[in-house]
Amino acid sequence: MSLTTRPSWAEIDTRALEENYRQLRSLAPAHAECMAIVKANAYGHSLALCAPAAVRAGAQWLGVTSVEEAAETRSYCPEARILAIGGVLPAHGASVVENKLTPSLWTLQHIEELEAAARAAGIGPRSFAVYLEIDTGMSRQGVGLDELPAILARFTAESPLFPEAVMTHLYASDESNGVKSGEQVLRLKEALRVVTATHAGQLRYVSAGSSAALLGNDSHPIVALAGEFHLQPMFRLGLALYGVAPRIVPPVASAPQADLKPVLAWKTRVADLRTIPAGAEIGYNGTFTATEPMRLALLPVGYADGLSRRLGNDFSLLVGGQRAPLVGRVSMDQVVLDVTEIPGVEFGDEVVILGGQGDENISAYEHADAAGTIPWEIFTSIAPRVERIAI
Ligand SMILES: *Cc1c(COP(=O)(O)O)cnc(C)c1O
Repeated sequence: MSLTTRPSWAEIDTRALEENYRQLRSLAPAHAECMAIVKANAYGHSLALCAPAAVRAGAQWLGVTSVEEAAETRSYCPEARILAIGGVLPAHGASVVENKLTPSLWTLQHIEELEAAARAAGIGPRSFAVYLEIDTGMSRQGVGLDELPAILARFTAESPLFPEAVMTHLYASDESNGVKSGEQVLRLKEALRVVTATHAGQLRYVSAGSSAALLGNDSHPIVALAGEFHLQPMFRLGLALYGVAPRIVPPVASAPQADLKPVLAWKTRVADLRTIPAGAEIGYNGTFTATEPMRLALLPVGYADGLSRRLGNDFSLLVGGQRAPLVGRVSMDQVVLDVTEIPGVEFGDEVVILGGQGDENISAYEHADAAGTIPWEIFTSIAPRVERIAI
């Protein structure tokens, strides 16, 4: 046990990720493409571990946000197709071309930057694939329907670029009434009419929909729309790949039931034990006062590791296979656990912050609810100093 060098770590079960991918794949129609989203260091799970695992499981496509992340992904996965979702910013074109990345783009600036880089690399007409992103209602990125013809006109027969996919992001697939997604799908259909009128021969995919789309109510409309235009539907799977099914509200009884396995377990070890008398206060500002003698375990993990400060006095972690309450405030690098009711806890014992121990389990949603956020942010908040270890 190396308490001093590695007091808190995240175990990454890459086989669980592979199984999750295969299972999600089987829930999508056989002709659909399932991109594995590995942005933000694979949702905090380690890009170096997870991108190759997704490829092993059969993912042809990996997706990240920035060109830098995409280039790093290329270093782990030499053969995969890699989508950079966030556009082609100034001076990024060369890296996109050099690393054989596939960018999503939607502005003239993106096109000019990438065209210049492709021409400089000697790439011939209609040889470099891009995703054309449509803003169907999220107002975050993508070209609106009004400006689509002007952007599309830039994909001339001489341009090195061609649109391989029309992409959009459904921003409310977790709302199972389908109202917002329905409006987005209508706009996407309009965009597809415009794009296929001139560029049908180059198009292959309609890329729309995240984990919630596949596991909620949006899968059918996406697949049907792609079918109308003789294109392949593509799902872009993030959270579910890491073993957490997004909450669909209200739940969809008929939705495919995924038996997903969490990929990440966050752990630490007991760094010290003490007994305090009744009346003693615990932590900053003494927000907890012992009403009887208590046995406390010190843990070398705090909000600087990503353990939300909002969990102080209001959460429990697992030790000895049982739940032990956090007492007092979460400090920057430390927190205190009440182990009075759990006999036999010793220095060095393993403590589970997120994940399972014995019959107990702490889910990412449990953390998210307690911290007032979503599982995506729980995972990406786990600090870089928490080492990710493949198991
Ligand atoms: C992050 C992201 C996804 C994946 O979303 P999940 O809800 O984690 O499955 C899909 N598409 C885009 C554009 C994204 O940014």
